[in-house]
Amino acid sequence: MESVLAAVRVAPRTTVIREFPMPDIAPDCALLKMEVAGICGTDVKLYGEPPSSAPVIMGHENIGYIAKAGSEFTKRKGFREGDLVFLEHYVSCGQCDWCHQGQYRHCENTDWRYNPNAIRYGYTPSDVAPHLWGGFAQYVYLPWNAVVHHVPKGVTPELAGLATPMSNGIEWSLFDGGVGYDSTVLIQGPGQQGLSQAVICRQAGASLIIVTGTSRDRARLEVAKALGADHVIDVNQEDPLARIKEITGGKGVDVVLDCTAGAGTTPVLLGVEALKRRAGTMVVQGEMALFPDFPIGRLTVKAITIKSARGHSFRACELALQQLASQRFPLEKITTHRFGLNDVDLAIRSVGGQGVPDVIHASLMPWQ
Ligand SMILES: [Zn+2]
Ligand SMILES: [Zn+2]
Repeated sequence: MESVLAAVRVAPRTTVIREFPMPDIAPDCALLKMEVAGICGTDVKLYGEPPSSAPVIMGHENIGYIAKAGSEFTKRKGFREGDLVFLEHYVSCGQCDWCHQGQYRHCENTDWRYNPNAIRYGYTPSDVAPHLWGGFAQYVYLPWNAVVHHVPKGVTPELAGLATPMSNGIEWSLFDGGVGYDSTVLIQGPGQQGLSQAVICRQAGASLIIVTGTSRDRARLEVAKALGADHVIDVNQEDPLARIKEITGGKGVDVVLDCTAGAGTTPVLLGVEALKRRAGTMVVQGEMALFPDFPIGRLTVKAITIKSARGHSFRACELALQQLASQRFPLEKITTHRFGLNDVDLAIRSVGGQGVPDVIHASLMPWQ
């Protein structure tokens, strides 16, 4: 029988290569031949502190070619063998209100935090048949309820690997933050996520984009400028609030987007103060469980709206893919590194700042 190679997380910060049987493809299913799995900060977190001890093929930002498509799969979904697709990591139920709205991220079927039987690429354990639930593998299994998007012509698999951070950029800055023509925006953190937000804000007509980072982010802050940031601030060198006030003539910004990782409460506290006098919006990631001494009074006095940065909708993915196809921004400055299947461990560590230096976006290419 033909087999499939996959990199499996078997313990915190431990990956082994395993072989799995090539799955049978029923008429309503398909098989994806992986080209690129993007690696993001979430992978760094899940690799260091796995939510369970079960073995998992990680990889939730997946691009590949449809290698096999059942007749029903093609008939119902419009995808056929040879199509290059972006696979959302959410696996829908197809029945709930959220699914009908294209908000698969909120569907219970894919909610791994609360539903022990949830299916989600990069999260579902590899002992769940037919095992291929992650992109750090040669092939990925697509049931009838997988959510796939056509990658537009002219977009390479590597560029398409930015679909996830770009769709988050659209969801968080445009749909949640309300960024548009003449908006002033503070983006905290110049990683692949923050840089994608900068591109989307620029495209949407923001009149001022400020990106913050640390001294370690020097190269990333340069990329931020190339992608349309008007000002960059090294928070280790300058007082970011004073600088933001100076840039905005004391007014503050309309929208704050938190794209930091592991920075604790600092970005939120800066955001509250950096927002304009009244009715600004912050989109936050909130990685910590608690926020002692949260300045709720400042929030209500300033009439701030806080929104949660949580993945992307179907519409955001479609717009992201169109954005990638537009060739309007030098996005090759973000896709900095490629790794093969045997280098999953190094790739994740590098994205976390502890392997190969100056990685912005890492493409895991399972056939390399
Ligand atoms: Zn991700
Ligand atoms: Zn659903």
